[in-house]
Amino acid sequence: MTMRIPQCDPKASYLAHKVEIDAAIGAVLERGRYILGPEVEAFEREFAAYLGVEHSVGVASGTDALTLALRACQVKAGDGVLTVSHTAVATVAAIELAGAVPVLVDIDPANFCVDSNALEDAVSRDWGVPLKAVIAVHLYGHPADMPAVMAIARSHGLAVIEDCAQSHGASVCGRMTGAWGDMAAFSFYPTKNLGALGDGGAVATNDPRLAERVRLLREYGWRERYVSSLAGMNSRLDELQAAILRVKLRYLDRDNAQRRELGSVYNKVLTDTNLGLPGTSEAAVHVYHQYVVRSAQRDRLRDWLREQGVGTLIHYPQPVHTQPAYRGRIPHAGLDRTEAAVREILSLPMYPELTLEQASEVGQLAAAFSGR
Ligand SMILES: *Cc1c(COP(=O)(O)O)cnc(C)c1O
Repeated sequence: MTMRIPQCDPKASYLAHKVEIDAAIGAVLERGRYILGPEVEAFEREFAAYLGVEHSVGVASGTDALTLALRACQVKAGDGVLTVSHTAVATVAAIELAGAVPVLVDIDPANFCVDSNALEDAVSRDWGVPLKAVIAVHLYGHPADMPAVMAIARSHGLAVIEDCAQSHGASVCGRMTGAWGDMAAFSFYPTKNLGALGDGGAVATNDPRLAERVRLLREYGWRERYVSSLAGMNSRLDELQAAILRVKLRYLDRDNAQRRELGSVYNKVLTDTNLGLPGTSEAAVHVYHQYVVRSAQRDRLRDWLREQGVGTLIHYPQPVHTQPAYRGRIPHAGLDRTEAAVREILSLPMYPELTLEQASEVGQLAAAFSGR
């Protein structure tokens, strides 16, 4: 069923920049260089400058960015990596792809990101595996509490990798997400705040040696062509996606500003309803990758909105530790707040081409269901 107002609309983003994107694609096709060429190099420079870091390395997806970041940080088979269960499964899948063991901790329900007390607790427990790193996920576009995460990780000698797949342009204490940890992983899946028209990802870091390791690992460990100095893989970013991303990067701040406007429309229309609204921590700049409300009658609210032609999604319907592939075998701390959130969350329509009027209408429909 197509919705009058969909939950997301990646085609609208293409159409909004069609002339520039078509020209960028045409130029790449004519140039005849299709993998790891001048567009990728230019995008890597521009994206690093945007983040305020020294290096960014284009890779094939956000999942690969996380996996390669873990490998670059020398996380080895059997090492433990702390993260949350309330995230895209990719965060946990990447830890296992690197051969490591995910150890999952609970979230702070105020912003759906890792709870620093739960993290503090988890780092000093014996999990039967040596803990080597933390992946802090900036979920829904809200930054995790990076000052606390960095302090905890540093005092226990853990590497910090930021999962920025949902937080392009978000910041906390005046510093961009992606510029806090040892490394950061970005996804450019089409619906992300910075989205390509296919798969793509990037790793960001200030450390030239870590950047160099990712550069080698993404192409078979080649320093010299056809001679592997590290056991790597193929995770290259292609020129078409890089050219498209260079266009889209120029509009990222404007798009995020529109997402924030949409967020304030929702906040305004939905105050005084019985819905739980997303908070923004002090010192945080939220980029509303998703606008997520909580309702005890979530499934009925979702059906009601669908009947009105309004699309919603649940990010995510099952925490990773209860999904069939992971159930019963992933070490985790108490995850009561994760499990409670998952029953109540609902992502309302959110994308930069959504109009303020449409957001107001969606908010009023949700408010009519929820009672003022
Ligand atoms: C999208 C996403 C990823 C994975 O990115 P892909 O490009 O789809 O591999 C990882 N973590 C989070 C939080 C995501 O939202």
